[in-house]
Amino acid sequence: MTQQIDVAAQAAEVIAHLRNFIKIPVGVSNKHVHLTQEDYDRLFPGEPMNRKKKLNQGDDFASDKLVTLVGPKGTMERVRILGPCRKYTQIELSMTDARMLGIPAPIRISGSIEGTPGLTIRSPHGEITVPQGVIVAKRHIHVQTKDAVLMGLHSGQEVCVRIESAERSAFLDKCEIRVGDDFTLEMHIDTDEGNAVGAGADATARIIG
Ligand SMILES: [Zn+2]
Repeated sequence: MTQQIDVAAQAAEVIAHLRNFIKIPVGVSNKHVHLTQEDYDRLFPGEPMNRKKKLNQGDDFASDKLVTLVGPKGTMERVRILGPCRKYTQIELSMTDARMLGIPAPIRISGSIEGTPGLTIRSPHGEITVPQGVIVAKRHIHVQTKDAVLMGLHSGQEVCVRIESAERSAFLDKCEIRVGDDFTLEMHIDTDEGNAVGAGADATARIIG
């Protein structure tokens, strides 16, 4: 009797092995704020949001606008607003930032803000208090849709990566895959994680499982 070969299963195994060799650039995200148009207009009435630096994902950019975050235990000045405006207001902090402000921010993937704490955002023109939106962003890897097919990855999947850096290479588990047509292959971690793994400009991540 001829042995039955499951080609699809074997191909998937080969792909899972080969993607381990792909070096994914690592970007460290500092604390930042995304605003709805309405919240932006309340903080910067009549002022356009100007593009200071384009970011790697979609049409995201670092704007020229800075705000102060106010929590029960402290304030943080010069926190950058990222554009363009979104459907929800979201404040992304590291755990260290959250502790300094006195806000129990949960680890969430961007956009998942239901039930999260809020805070006060202050600009030179006024301040707003948002009821929710403060998160510690869950570490994630942006993957372009076609690349995701080639690499055998899907949105919401969690992988373990090895971060390779000059002096603090490390393994990071539970990295969430995010797939999008306008994404560019890149891993995003926050400043706490970046410091922990010594992530300079040359740090790369390889999916190992
Ligand atoms: Zn990201």
